[in-house]
Amino acid sequence: MSYYSPSIEKLIESFEKLPSIGNKTAVRLAFYMLNASKEETDSFIKSIQDAKNNLKLCSKCYNISDNDPCEICSNAQRDQSKICVVEDVKDVVAIEKIHEYKGLYHVLHGSISPMDGIGPDDIKIKELLSRLMDGSVKEVILATNPKVEGEATAMYISKLIKPMGIKATRLAHGIPVGGDLEYTDEFTLGKAFEGRTEL
Ligand SMILES: [Zn+2]
Repeated sequence: MSYYSPSIEKLIESFEKLPSIGNKTAVRLAFYMLNASKEETDSFIKSIQDAKNNLKLCSKCYNISDNDPCEICSNAQRDQSKICVVEDVKDVVAIEKIHEYKGLYHVLHGSISPMDGIGPDDIKIKELLSRLMDGSVKEVILATNPKVEGEATAMYISKLIKPMGIKATRLAHGIPVGGDLEYTDEFTLGKAFEGRTEL
């Protein structure tokens, strides 16, 4: 049985679907929106719609961007000889924040996880290999998460690229095992980048 009218109930349900939003928070957000001005709610709705409509995947690195190629791929100042491979778009942001790395990226959109039925063909590995074909990339930094799946993905990729004469490196330890790159503090991530080791 619901204590709220159907449209409030529906709004609460929508908020509840968002990550890390429980019922209490969903109720609070729903009532916040109901009490907000029409301008505020309209602008909130528009920002979601704009983000959905304007953002696309970069056809080179598969980062999310307003433009294709993205700002990083189209920046000639970036070191074109290095590609940092990450699992998720949010990892690009985490690494950009430390201002340590000036190369390019490649977003895999996941990691190899046989338990979840995710194989090498389900993430952007083929796309990475085709970027390496012209020989301009000298180092691939495997910055996948230090979890079982991330480690397996890094090993899989390093085995494919080493015969191509490309250096495969892994971030130094210091990122907690089982941790997430995006939640690692900037100092630790910066150190892990400096101390990366060859696989
Ligand atoms: Zn890009």
